Amino acid sequence: MKKILVLPGDGIGQEIVAEAVKVITVLQQQHGLQVTLEHDVVGGTAYDQKGSPLPDDVLAKAKAADAVLLGAVGGSKWESLPIAVRPEKGLLGLRAGLGLFANLRPALLYPQLASASTLKPEVVAGLDILIVRELTGDIYFGQPRGVRTLPNGEREGFNTMVYRESEIERIARVAFDSARKRNKKVCSVDKANVLECTELWREVVTRVAKDYPDVQLSHMYVDNAAMQLVRAPKQFDVMVTGNIFGDILSDEASMLTGSIGMLPSASLNEKGQGMYEPIHGSAPDIAGKGIANPIATILSVAMMLRYSLAQPELADHIERAVRKVLDQGYRTADIYTDGTTKVGTMQMGDAIIAALRHG
Ligand code: NAD
Repeated sequence: MKKILVLPGDGIGQEIVAEAVKVITVLQQQHGLQVTLEHDVVGGTAYDQKGSPLPDDVLAKAKAADAVLLGAVGGSKWESLPIAVRPEKGLLGLRAGLGLFANLRPALLYPQLASASTLKPEVVAGLDILIVRELTGDIYFGQPRGVRTLPNGEREGFNTMVYRESEIERIARVAFDSARKRNKKVCSVDKANVLECTELWREVVTRVAKDYPDVQLSHMYVDNAAMQLVRAPKQFDVMVTGNIFGDILSDEASMLTGSIGMLPSASLNEKGQGMYEPIHGSAPDIAGKGIANPIATILSVAMMLRYSLAQPELADHIERAVRKVLDQGYRTADIYTDGTTKVGTMQMGDAIIAALRHG
């Protein structure tokens, strides 16, 4: 029996995760999904209840689970706390504690929502990109780092971009394996013309590609990739890149779809354990109002079924149910346009469940 740890977190996390749990329950009751759910706290809520944004027992439960379903963390209530106990430390602690080195972020535009993008519908309609971002290395973690004072008294800040061959190889393999399940194209993004570290990145990715002769590999400099993502995003299938470039490009790609409430993500470790969460935050401005879009979280459950629970048919089933409710015209406020039916968080969850039951 597979184990899922459910961590709603803060703000809208509570509301959207409740809908995702309803979806899991339907799959258990009607589609033979064999999982046990355990519930706990993380982020500001965990700080309030247990004095730490990631209590030791919660991290231990996460390590023992096959997958973690996370809502979001953060909120103004905790902003004045020391950094070490801020809600975001809970998230970083889970990533580090579980060794989640691969971040997978699909940027998929449902045709029904093409008008929600700031780009022209013909540029983005049918968009389906997967960004694979390395999550535990690069300049964010490299040593040495800091701010030092030079002999002339001026201060200088410095960080180190660093990647080992083994780190590049394992993220490249995640990208090639993912491409095999999609359109068999990988674009590796680097800055090999300027940075030695990413010159090595390009060399290792090219070497790994030899094991995947059925996947087409291309390389692109990060500045060009940023431009191509808004010029002609549909040229991409899987994009693989390091931590800092991936941080920026994945946010850019998500905005092509125009709807932060629609996009799921997965972070995986070498054992196939994963943490699944919407890409958005805890949205304190709408928390408690019952209007948050639960679809990103529900689609995160679909990713969990595909990547950690080996249930791709059930993942497809959820994605079909989401498409069906969009076809039926249901929209939460963030994706509402004239002529559609505005619904709240629970109504959207219920509509998806109805589609699952009758699908
Ligand atoms: P945010 O993603 O929470 O919100 C940005 C905007 O998008 C807001 O207007 C919000 O109302 C809207 N929005 C977000 N999710 C939505 C949804 N599901 N449905 C409808 N509208 C939605 O980003 P922010 O406002 O910059 O950050 C708020 C808090 O969340 C901060 O404390 C931040 O640190 C935290 N945060 C957490 C995570 C995470 O847990 N992974 C990620 C980003 C931000």
